[in-house]
Amino acid sequence: MKIDILTLFPDMFTGPFDASMLKKAKDMQLVEINIHNLRDWATDKHKSVDDRPFGGGKGMILRVDVVDAALESLKSKVTSNKSKVFLLSPQGKIYNQERAGEMAKLNHLILIAGHYEGFDERISEHLVDEEISIGDYVLTGGEIPAMVIVDSVVRLIPGVLDEDATLYESFSTNYHATPVLPLGTGQAVRSSSSSEQKLLDYPQYTKPEVYKNWKVPEVLLSGNHKEIEKYRRKKALEKTMKFRPDLLK
Ligand code: SAM
Repeated sequence: MKIDILTLFPDMFTGPFDASMLKKAKDMQLVEINIHNLRDWATDKHKSVDDRPFGGGKGMILRVDVVDAALESLKSKVTSNKSKVFLLSPQGKIYNQERAGEMAKLNHLILIAGHYEGFDERISEHLVDEEISIGDYVLTGGEIPAMVIVDSVVRLIPGVLDEDATLYESFSTNYHATPVLPLGTGQAVRSSSSSEQKLLDYPQYTKPEVYKNWKVPEVLLSGNHKEIEKYRRKKALEKTMKFRPDLLK
């Protein structure tokens, strides 16, 4: 997969993309991530990419002509038809795991990070495939949302993580109905009886078995995989009911 990010603050991306799973994915050449400074497509001598809003008001607005030129240039280097342009915006459709899964099937993503007051509406109307929000709050810029999307998409690209690592997690529709299999075996399969229900992950424990009189649930130490699976499904349901009842249909 190739990911192009358009931003006014390229330096913000140094660090997050050079460690952990994203670094591994880049090293394995499963993803290529390019950060582009929008100012490279500015045409005046001041390299301006934004201007005051027509009709008055505060702040600076990202210009449609600059973004159009940037997109033309990036698109001209890509032949795949599985390529889409996403605008990061608090006004967009709320992002979630399902969306991450769909985006992971594309070959090329262009992410546009806005800043300041926002962007000329013609960018959203004519130049992008989708406007995405990472939640109902306003951030200073689209750089952190772009990082959130890149991280959540790249870990779903086949080969980046073990297959069962992404099946057995919160918001997965698979693992809660999957027959018991030792985790980490790569043998996870979607059960024929699996429902489309999305649950939060079940609680996990590790050593020590007892800490400050807080004990690990006995069943997890029993070695009885059937009982462990029953316990985990029950706990996943309880957690979902408590914290995200909206996920339970
Ligand atoms: N005036 C805009 C509004 O009220 O909707 C907010 C602009 S915000 C300060 C600047 C930029 O940050 C946005 O153009 C967008 O790219 C990004 N941004 C802020 N919050 C976001 C969110 N929740 N999801 C995605 N992008 C966001």
